[in-house]
Amino acid sequence: MSALPRRLGLVVAVVSTAIGLSLAAPRADAAPEASVRESGRQAEVIALAMQVAERQQSLSTLNKRADARDRVLFGYRAVLATYGYTGDPDKARVVLPLASYDVSAGFGLTGPLWEAEHGGQDFGASIGDRIVAVADGVVSEVAYAGPYGLRTILTLPDGTEVWYCHQTSVSVAAGHRVEMTDEIGTVGSTGNSTGPHLHLEVRPGGGDPIDPMDWLRAAGLNP
Ligand SMILES: [Zn+2]
Repeated sequence: MSALPRRLGLVVAVVSTAIGLSLAAPRADAAPEASVRESGRQAEVIALAMQVAERQQSLSTLNKRADARDRVLFGYRAVLATYGYTGDPDKARVVLPLASYDVSAGFGLTGPLWEAEHGGQDFGASIGDRIVAVADGVVSEVAYAGPYGLRTILTLPDGTEVWYCHQTSVSVAAGHRVEMTDEIGTVGSTGNSTGPHLHLEVRPGGGDPIDPMDWLRAAGLNP
């Protein structure tokens, strides 16, 4: 890009020279055949300058288009980075559900807080924090679900269910197709919860839950 103004300047110079030559009247003392040769050369110079100018303009258009694409790509890269993915945007398949959080109660814990083993990972966050789709998928259920509070279930193409629990609000409805980083809802403390947090569950094939941290790490993230 930095070379562009200099090149444009050159084109302007070439075009001006060509126009100057074409406007110069043939010398009175020149032989007629010399005058014809000279104007023929001038025409060639003008045609060449026009070609250069045209080519320069199409290069400039291409550059503008590339800039626009880079800006879009940069924006997407920034969004992915916000949710923990810093690799090649074309290879992104999974992101973290929140932009910031405190790692709270882990998977498999037992204790008075849970009816059985803790089936997910808790991410401490603030009421109203944006929760996003960790991957492309289809919203298969949005409902109040007892101890889980306001819960959204996202089903991924491979059948894995991702449960988002204790939300304050939801931004999607059953049947919605969502893309990675689309907003699902907001953090809350609905259901069996002692404070605002996201309880995330990952259930391959809709079966028993696995440790969401293992699943996220397997996707190349560092939760
Ligand atoms: Zn939990």
